[in-house]
This record gives sequence, structure tokens and C-alpha cells, in this order.
Amino acid sequence: MFEKKDQKQAGKSSELTALSELGEFGLIDRLTKNIQRFHPETLKGVGDDAAVIATGDKVMLLSTDLLVEGIHFDLTYMPLKHLGYKAVVVNISDIAAMNGIPLQMTVSIAVSSRFPVEALDELYSGILTACEKYHVDLVGGDTSSSVKGLLISVTITGTARPEEVIYRSGARSGDLLCVTGDLGSAYMGLLILEREKKVFQVNPAMQPELSGFDYQIGRQLKPEARTDIRNVLMGAGIRPTAMIDISDGLASEILHLCKQSKTGCRLFEEKIPIDPQTRELALEYNIIPTLTALSGGEDYELLFTVSQSDYEKIKDIEGITIIGHMTDNSGEKVMITPDGKQVELTAQGWNAWTSGLADKRTSGPVDKRTSGQAD
Ligand code: ADP
Ligand code: MG
Repeated sequence: MFEKKDQKQAGKSSELTALSELGEFGLIDRLTKNIQRFHPETLKGVGDDAAVIATGDKVMLLSTDLLVEGIHFDLTYMPLKHLGYKAVVVNISDIAAMNGIPLQMTVSIAVSSRFPVEALDELYSGILTACEKYHVDLVGGDTSSSVKGLLISVTITGTARPEEVIYRSGARSGDLLCVTGDLGSAYMGLLILEREKKVFQVNPAMQPELSGFDYQIGRQLKPEARTDIRNVLMGAGIRPTAMIDISDGLASEILHLCKQSKTGCRLFEEKIPIDPQTRELALEYNIIPTLTALSGGEDYELLFTVSQSDYEKIKDIEGITIIGHMTDNSGEKVMITPDGKQVELTAQGWNAWTSGLADKRTSGPVDKRTSGQAD
């Protein structure tokens, strides 16, 4: 019955809303707006990097991520071992973003018949390597066939004392906006891999030119989660007021912090940490380097706010950069360029329904290996 109605409705497409109209965040908002909470133990549901559930004197953190072939990864250049590792790391990153310690996870896979058993052995060797590195117990999952391609869903639990948990919503006007590590390299890594894939498609005998870009490719294929930051900050006597991990790009994550905390923000372009080689490569690709950080994503660094009174404690910590501050004007979410111009921050975002992985790509410089130009 439903099917018939659906088909009928599909004919009247003017009354229906295309997924691409809402985008990922709009869709999540719409699907989750009528959720009811039945249990007081559910301290935080939808809207943060992980749900927070009361369990005695500690809370349980709970998060899940789904990776879909052709949308989140391309097996042409993503070795299965790395994919397994990355699938675990992106979940651990969500626990780190709540200031928790990861504990257990389940892994569910759907696999088409094109994969031999040995390929899945490789995937699991990456999964188990990450489990060992981050001390996470793999405690279950589910296995299914798929019509096409590979899907991996990981669900993870973590723990923290209730007062340690850091939400996206705790930032206040005047708080300093800080970021760990550097940004944009994972995106440049993706562009390099995409470029070499094109070369390979044109001429399979051609060897990919990947040497010299180890940092960028490593950031794309084998990211790490910043579980170390919890201890760094605790050791310095700093408790962030809000925190999120950078999976979609700096701009999008800052906007999440502003929305949940009901603040505005001022970000200073020249403060955004970008690896010098990534900066150079971006220019070669005709991309403004700042954009690799703002919209690239997949860096899995942490973005957090601290009270201004923590300035002295945080300013000299290696690997942490103050990039701006929060404001009380929730309408103001701006980046200040080096010449003093104000640019409104927008989430370039990720609209899986317009183009998937390709959305994250951009045309690179003319490459004579694919353009047909002679040497
Ligand atoms: P992250 O990038 O940290 O993984 P997401 O942007 O995927 O977070 O999700 C934002 C919030 O929406 C999270 O709290 C997540 O649990 C929730 N969420 C995402 N998709 C769904 C869904 N289909 N149903 C219910 N909640 C969802
Ligand atoms: Mg997250």
C-alpha cells in the first residue's frame, strides 16, 4: 500500500521535497525534531558528538558513524586496512570531542559479492590495529550482504565523570576559540589521490606520483584521533567550555558551536594553522589555502573554547592555536582577513545528495598526464 502511494506521490514531484534541498544537517533536524525522551538517564540525545547517558557515578558516551563506499571512501586508492583503521578512528574522535575515554565498539558491515574473504581480513586487520592503539574492545557487530559496494557502521561507547563532559553548547561570549594540530592537509591528500586516480584511469601503466606528499596522504588515509588532548588540557588545569571534532571542516564546526552555544564568533584568518606544504599545494591547485581548512574536513582535530581567564595557561601549549573568540552577537559569525575585511562564515558543508565524494573534489591544475598535452 505504501509503495503504491509512494509511487503516486513520486509522480507529483512538485509536492515532494528533494533530499538535496535540506542537506545533511537540515534532514537530521527534521527527522529528530519530534523525538521524545522517556528516560531521565538520557542526559543528552541528538545534537552533540555523542549521546550522554547516566550510569551511576560515571556517564556513558555513545556515538555511531556510517561509512559508505563511493560516498565516504574510494577503494581505488583507499587500502582496506587503512579504511578499517579510519572507520574506528572517526568514532574515537567523537568520544575525544566529548572529553571522554573510548571503551567498546561494535562493527557492522554490508558487503557485496565482489569482495573476496581476504579483502575483509585486511579490513579487520586495520580495525584491530586501531583497537589496539586506542585500547578499545571490539564487542560485537552484524554482517550482511549488500547489493552493491561496502558499508561499515561503527558504534562506540566511552566514559567520563559527569563533570568532565564537554558539550557543544557551553561556549560563552569572550571565550577563546582554539584548535589542535593543523587543518586542511587531509583534504589536500584527497585531491592528490584523486588526481593520481585520474592519471591511472587514462593510462593504467603510469605509476602514481605520491612521493613527497606523505603528510597530506597520511592525513587522508590514516587519520588519528586526539585522545591525547584530554590529558594535555587537564595537565594544564584547563577545562574547555565547549568542544567538537573537525570532521566536516572548520567553518561548519564553528557554526555548530555557535548554534548550540547561542553565540557569535570572530575568527582570524591568519591564525588558522595550515601546514606550509599544504598551503603551497593548495595554491598549485588554484585553491585559496584557507578554504582547505574551512571546508576541507576530515582533519579529526579538536575545536574548543576556553575562558579568557585561561589565556596564560593555554597560549604556549605546543600544538594548540588560538584562532579567534566567541561574541555575544549570535548573528555575527565572521572571519577577519589579514587586511581587516569581514567575511561571513558559511558551512560549505557536505551535501551527500548532490554529489557525494565528488563534492569534496575540485578541478586541479592542468596535468599533462591526463590533458593530452605533449611533454
Ligand atoms: P558527527 O559529525 O559528530 O558524527 P553528525 O553531524 O553526524 O555528528 O550528527 C549530528 C547529531 O545528529 C548527532 O547527535 C547524531 O547522533 C545525530 N544524528 C545524525 N543522524 C541521525 C539520525 N538519522 N537519527 C537520529 N539522530 C541522528
Ligand atoms: Mg563529531
